[in-house]
Amino acid sequence: MSDNILEEIFIKRSQQKRKTSPLNYKERLFILTQEKIAYYDFDSDKGKRKGLRGSVDLEKIKCVETVQPEPNAPQERMYAFQIIYDEGPLYIFAKTESIRAQWIKQLKKMVRFNRDLMQKYHPCFWVDGIWLCCQQEVKQAMGCKVLDGFTSQQSQRRGSRKPLPPTPTEEKPGRPLPPQPPEQPPPSTGMTVTAEYNYTPMTPQDLELRKDEEYTILEMCDANWWRARDKYGNEGYIPSNYVVEAEKGLEKFDWYCKNTNRSQAETLLKTENKDGGFLVRDSSKAGKYTVSLFSKGGGETGGSCRHYNICTTSQGQFYLAEKHNFSTIPELINYHQHNAAGMVSRLKYIVSNRVRPPSIAGLGYGVWEIDPLYLTFIKELGTGQFGVVKYGKWQGKHDVAIKMIKEGSMSEDDFIEEAKIMMKLCHQNLVQLYGVCTKQRPIYIVTEFLSNGCLLTYLKEGLKQHPTNVQLLEMCKDVSEGMAYLESQQYIHRDLAARNCLVDGNGTVKVTDFGLSRYVLDDEYTSSAGSKFPVRWSPPEVLLYCKFSSKSDIWAYGVLMWEVYTLGRLPYERLNNTEIVDQVSRGLRLYRPQLANEKVYSIMSSCWLEKAEERPTFQELASNVQDLLYELQ
Ligand code: ADP
Ligand code: MG
Repeated sequence: MSDNILEEIFIKRSQQKRKTSPLNYKERLFILTQEKIAYYDFDSDKGKRKGLRGSVDLEKIKCVETVQPEPNAPQERMYAFQIIYDEGPLYIFAKTESIRAQWIKQLKKMVRFNRDLMQKYHPCFWVDGIWLCCQQEVKQAMGCKVLDGFTSQQSQRRGSRKPLPPTPTEEKPGRPLPPQPPEQPPPSTGMTVTAEYNYTPMTPQDLELRKDEEYTILEMCDANWWRARDKYGNEGYIPSNYVVEAEKGLEKFDWYCKNTNRSQAETLLKTENKDGGFLVRDSSKAGKYTVSLFSKGGGETGGSCRHYNICTTSQGQFYLAEKHNFSTIPELINYHQHNAAGMVSRLKYIVSNRVRPPSIAGLGYGVWEIDPLYLTFIKELGTGQFGVVKYGKWQGKHDVAIKMIKEGSMSEDDFIEEAKIMMKLCHQNLVQLYGVCTKQRPIYIVTEFLSNGCLLTYLKEGLKQHPTNVQLLEMCKDVSEGMAYLESQQYIHRDLAARNCLVDGNGTVKVTDFGLSRYVLDDEYTSSAGSKFPVRWSPPEVLLYCKFSSKSDIWAYGVLMWEVYTLGRLPYERLNNTEIVDQVSRGLRLYRPQLANEKVYSIMSSCWLEKAEERPTFQELASNVQDLLYELQ
């Protein structure tokens, strides 16, 4: 028995490998060893272990987290946790909060160096083909909640006020846990969160958020809007991406720039232009962190950026420079704020991305009809298929883009129905639909405003210097992630191209106009023989049989990558539409752009496989692009 690290009788839920498999809950004896977590039948009278029913190798585990109990869950199923591995989630119910916390903590510690640790997870169960937290219907759908830190929420919430995760070293192996106070069953929500940004209510139903203050979550109405209570007892709706679970991670430090990639970090640091300007971001390797530092020394005019990976010792300590190990990242940063210790300079100035809050799904929970009286029009941005697009403000302060739909250009009623669904799509690489004004003509579509405009123009004219390989690949990565989200929602774009992507002030690319082409009233655009049909972005099955799917979006993505790497050239420049249909269906493909190396070209070419089913998924593409980026960094 000495090899057993933990042993406990838990209730295990059946794994529901098929959507309709019935759910059952069975008591099993769970045994955790160095290599695996195994569960057995057992003889409850004699308390003896019987046959092995299953096991999960620890090295395959991608995530260990609590799960919120289902509404009306019986007492014995209040303390659930999940172990995610390649076959999906394994749900286990502990008898008490403290046993659950102990197992989670131990498991997290043992898997913390695993490859492929997840950055996002689902806080609620997968039941009958749906994730209860975000309503996604694909079991593999990326989690809807960012996971950070490596210690369990429960011990964090109860512990002292100094947990500075990720702190894998905070506990010595085998040390017994302190006694836990008796606990009431937690409500299914009831989580304490900290505001990362100020949020000014946009509707009377909203609740104001003040940065760094704590709030209690009362109801997770959907993935984007939660009902919360502040410390004065006020209640209302808040955007879920403005808060993080309290005391969980690095989020409370201004130097931590979550969701910032290498080239965005460089843009931020260069814009700040201060010697010793620094930030900490997630490394492209999951679960790791990188310090990005700007220095004016070293002879390069204008300064340069260096990127230092935060390394971990075998004992789980953190270091940037050997011999200077720390048990937490904040301690490490604090040390290097005073000592360069081998880096090009010490960390002198915090450069933060917190100045700019993330986009919100809509302008308030349940709000999709916007009163046009609250819109101010500031300037014209351009003209598209549906007419003029303007930049303006909502309620005098929020930047928005307003598409004024030229009468007769759109099948309006159908679109208005669809808009309710589109509003729920929320991802950092999709242009957010905020709402519509439908009570007057022309109707307006109100969306997030992106200050660098259309990607195609940005590629042709907007890049101030010659782009680096990393920059080009980051653009492709942004699009692949936005599209992987659409794919997980089983939403087909139908008109993906550089002209339908926009660039924000940070250089992040976001996909726009998804699904809109279905509502265009213009035969030249909708008929595959029409002059405005996106023939150059279409695969043979669309050109020949109008068969749209996520796989036709994949083809278009390959063409978009080609646009990125040619800095905005027209695909099949010398051919007209009829020639393209003819030649592409006979096997012609776009050539390798000069800026694209063989690996990049092989990714785009994989999108142009004749057989749609052989093309990759967006999730696979996103991970291929990420791997390449990692090689470059
Ligand atoms: P449509 O989709 O109706 O054809 P577009 O979306 O192409 O129209 O919009 C026309 C132009 O307006 C774009 O090329 C872009 O420059 C600008 N634009 C559109 N939406 C936005 C936005 N959300 N933020 C900034 N610029 C925008
Ligand atoms: Mg467009």
